[in-house]
Amino acid sequence: MNVHEYQAKEILAQFGIPVPAGKVAFTPAEAEAVARELGSAKFVVKAQIHAGGRGKGGGVKLANTPEEVRAIAEKMIGMQLVTHQTGPDGKKVEKVLIAEAVEIKQELYLGFVLDRAKSAVTMMASAEGGVEIETVAEERPEAILRETADPSVGLMPFQATRAAFGLGLDDTLIRQFTSMATKMYECFVKTDASIIEINPLAVVGDNQLVALDAKMNFDDNGLFRHKDIAAMLDPTEEDERELEANENLLSYVSLDGNIGCMVNGAGLAMSTMDIIKYYGAFPANFLDVGGRATAERVTLAFKLILSDPNVKAILVNIFGGIVNCDLIAAGIIEAVKQVELNVPLVVRLEGTNVEKGRQMLAASDIEIISAESLDEAAQKAVAAVRG
Ligand code: ADP
Ligand code: MG
Repeated sequence: MNVHEYQAKEILAQFGIPVPAGKVAFTPAEAEAVARELGSAKFVVKAQIHAGGRGKGGGVKLANTPEEVRAIAEKMIGMQLVTHQTGPDGKKVEKVLIAEAVEIKQELYLGFVLDRAKSAVTMMASAEGGVEIETVAEERPEAILRETADPSVGLMPFQATRAAFGLGLDDTLIRQFTSMATKMYECFVKTDASIIEINPLAVVGDNQLVALDAKMNFDDNGLFRHKDIAAMLDPTEEDERELEANENLLSYVSLDGNIGCMVNGAGLAMSTMDIIKYYGAFPANFLDVGGRATAERVTLAFKLILSDPNVKAILVNIFGGIVNCDLIAAGIIEAVKQVELNVPLVVRLEGTNVEKGRQMLAASDIEIISAESLDEAAQKAVAAVRG
């Protein structure tokens, strides 16, 4: 799960990481009031969307007075902000962060990620912050310093200090950097984060380090023990179908292709997606209806797939083990009664009660392309989307 910059900064501040004073605002009037409350010499108005590159896209603006803050917020709230991460349609800005603007002397980069190959958290730091770190990583990988934390002891202060030296920081900054990096590691581990990224980590005023931007991502599987973080979910930033699936205990992930898949079991769902790609088409989703599927959940799964306008054919691939084929058949029949089926439907059933399931489908008046094997089913689905 992703959170907004203002939320990430709240979390970081709880761990003692310095961030500029600021507060989120939902209306221009609120933005002006926040600026008055801050009472700083200069302000920055920042669009809160789950995408980076806001600065270049016009989503970060400086202001000198609370009135100016209001004028900027008037333009920013409601605008469709396009950045290199949003896609061409952009993202609608619903809220802005009003923060104290600081005098920047240098922009650094500091990030923490889970290195799956090393099974450990890795810190990445660069003296070339502010710009797109992806470009630095690609063109000059040596400009990014890495320190991997041993999980049994965590990130050691000497590792942070070594990175600080590598960044060419002076004595006071080295001390601040070491303290900040170890706190960030603690924050990463304690919140079950999967990414923390500060870009830029700025050197400001009389040699102070401040996190000017913050991006955090959390492991969904850890959210049950962080109710405060889970409550930060912004539904406007989430895929509607994924949210609905989640609420109904279906595992669903939206994808870019046009064959809607309804499968039971994550492994079978993965191989179904693979074989669709093997025959030259792309899946529109990953969907595991699970082992405890009821007719209602199958109906809902079917509706979810059909509500995606990109879906040009549906492939049902069920192995009746824990969930019986007749139950799946009942779900399909029920769903088609409720929603208009306007795309070809390929069904491959195998396993417990398969005959009963097939008979039920045959007896219904639903037009079905049936298949015996996974291979045949995939080929028929791919042929169906090709018209
Ligand atoms: P994004 O990464 O989405 O472009 P940032 O928060 O990094 O957004 O802001 C872009 C740039 O705006 C920063 O690199 C920094 O130069 C400037 N900036 C951001 N916050 C402040 C602030 N509080 N004071 C002064 N400048 C800021
Ligand atoms: Mg940034």
